[in-house]
Formats: sequence, structure tokens, C-alpha cells
Amino acid sequence: MKKDKLLFTPGPLTTSATVKEAMLRDLGSRDFEFIQTVQFVREKLLAVGEVSKSEGYEAVIMQGSGTFGIESVISSVIPASGHLLIVVNGVYGERISTMAKVHGIQQTKLMFDENEVPDVSKIEAAIDADKSITHLAVIHCETTTGIINPIEAIGDLCSAKGICYIVDAMSSFGAVPLNVKKTKIDFLISSSNKCIEGVPGFSFIIARKESLLTCEGQARSLSLDLFAQWKGLEADGQFRFTPPTHSLLAFAQALRELEEEGSVIGRAQRYKSNFETLLRGMKALGFKEYLEEEKRGYIITCFHYPEHPNFDFKKFYEFLNEKGFVIYPGKLSRVNCFRIGNIGRITTTDVQQLLEAIRVTLAEMGILLVVEGRV
Ligand SMILES: *Cc1c(COP(=O)(O)O)cnc(C)c1O
Repeated sequence: MKKDKLLFTPGPLTTSATVKEAMLRDLGSRDFEFIQTVQFVREKLLAVGEVSKSEGYEAVIMQGSGTFGIESVISSVIPASGHLLIVVNGVYGERISTMAKVHGIQQTKLMFDENEVPDVSKIEAAIDADKSITHLAVIHCETTTGIINPIEAIGDLCSAKGICYIVDAMSSFGAVPLNVKKTKIDFLISSSNKCIEGVPGFSFIIARKESLLTCEGQARSLSLDLFAQWKGLEADGQFRFTPPTHSLLAFAQALRELEEEGSVIGRAQRYKSNFETLLRGMKALGFKEYLEEEKRGYIITCFHYPEHPNFDFKKFYEFLNEKGFVIYPGKLSRVNCFRIGNIGRITTTDVQQLLEAIRVTLAEMGILLVVEGRV
């Protein structure tokens, strides 16, 4: 079999051979082994979030990609009389706003620039200015730029103000240490194909049980009803509708491999090394990072297009693709950038190979960048 290209993207990501192999089974959705797998996955997810059932937390699996999990929360958790404050500094924050609009949920958008860490005092002022706000949603790692938002400080604020706290931790969960209880999160959402290194197929929600119990009967969708999904899983360990059996088998294996790597701390180390190798190498090639140093996370890195008349992103992308490396376009509103992910089953050796491919590609495009302090 031909070797797959390496994915330096925000997902789906490169996965291990053993994760892919775990899918070579056909399990019935009512099979005892499958139900045990679901149970295993739900327990391990709580452990990754550093909480447990006995502490009052529940893990719910929802079919579909990450967006389906967020939409499940947004459309199930906020009552008809609720008011959602959305902290936006990128496209994923915007997406939550679009969801709220579709479901007719009252919302206030608090906008920050894409290269700006949301100012918690401004969030506090927005909450104080409108007593009808009941819920707040924010993105942990805004994958648009890779910026890390201050979810702990926002959690303290929500807790002090009695506001239900929703965190999209899609691209950080499993790779950035996070304690759901200490961060005072009511609903956290992530998915199978990001930092836990499974394959696409489902999202999952870690919910504070007390908050989850308030959601009965208020969902605006049948298939995305978070409370009903949880009830179903609790009743007999089964899904209400066809479960993604193969992706769950892969995910159970991915969770074992996460543990073998030293759990979240171990994974964070590998991703940080990938990030540092990438940044050093890209700088040496003359590229500039979009975010200022103190705002950068190690999940995904956003680079400016080089200022060279020969640079054409589409060509750059295609040339790298032909060499077996998949990078990702930018999604910024005003600045031309592209992104390189540091996540998935990739190592610093893979990053070095990518850097070499970028060097060759630049030469092929007739681009010689001037590196600061060096010509
Ligand atoms: C990947 C991602 C999502 C979900 O995307 P899907 O394509 O639906 O899986 C949502 N939020 C963030 C921050 C993400 O990185």
C-alpha cells in the first residue's frame, strides 16, 4: 500500500497504524463488546478531563463531526428564555453565533480581534451590562490562528456570576492539560479526530451532571438532543441511532495510546517539540508567525504569506502536496496567512521532512526569502 500523505492540518489528522487497524472489525451496536467499548471510552474521556462520574461529571458521545457536538450543546442547553454571550476571536466563535441564530436563541457577540486574547474585564463588563445573560460560550484554542483563550479566568467569572459555561475545546482537549472541574466548565466539547488521534465520526461532551439535568425536554432537534442522548447511553449503554462503531473502536485504541504516551502531559510534550521544530525551521526559511510570542499555542501555527512576487499559495500547497505533505489554508478576515498543524501522529522527524520539502518548494517557485540578520 502506498504511504499516505502526512497531515499538518487541524483535522482529520494522521493516525497510527494501530488505530486504523482497530477498525478492521464488524461489531453490532448491541454487541456486549461494543457496549463495553462505549463504556470504556466514556470513562476515559472523563479521566482526560481530570474528572469522574463520582465527582458529578458525565461524558456523552454524539454522532457527527465536532460541529454536531457543539450544535447539540447550543441547541439543548439554553432554554427558550436564555441569553447566550459568545466570546468571538475567530471563525469557530462565529460558528457558534451562526448556530444560535439558526435556533432562534437570543445572543450577544463580544468581538475581539483575531490576534487578540479576550480581555476578561471586558467580558465581565458585558455580563454586568445585561442581566438577562444566562450562558457563555468560548473557544479554548481558536484554531483560526492557534491562539489560546483564557478559559480558567473566564470560568472563574462565570462561576461568580452564576452563568452556565460552555467551552469548545475541540482542538486542545487531550493535548493541553485541563481540569474541567477546576476550570468550572459546565459543558466541554471536543471530537474524535483531533488531539486524541482517533478517526472522524463523533464528538463528545463532558458535562457537569447538575447542569445536564436542567436540559430535559428543551432540545430544538431530535437527533442532537444532548439530554436524550445521555439518557439513552445511561439506560442500556446504547445509542439512540446507528453508532459510529468503527470510529469508536479506533478511538478506544487511540485512548490507550494516549495513556502509553504519558497521557495529556506526554502528548503535550510531543506537540510542543513539533511546534518548536516547526517555528525554528520556518524562521530560518524566512517565514514570520502571525501571532505574537506570548499568545501562541502549540496546536497549530499561522504564518504570513511571504512578501515575494513569486509566492502563490495554491502552487505552494500543490507542490507540497505532491511531495506528500498536506498543509492548511488560512481563514483570517484581513491578513493572508496559511496554517501548519503540529498535532496528530507526527514527530519532529516528520516536521523536519516537511521543512525540507518547504525549502525545496520555495526554490522551485524561485523564491529566496531574506532571513532577518542574514542574507
Ligand atoms: C475542528 C474544530 C471544530 C469542529 O469542526 P468539525 O469540522 O465539525 O469537526 C470546532 N471548533 C474548533 C475550535 C475546531 O478546531
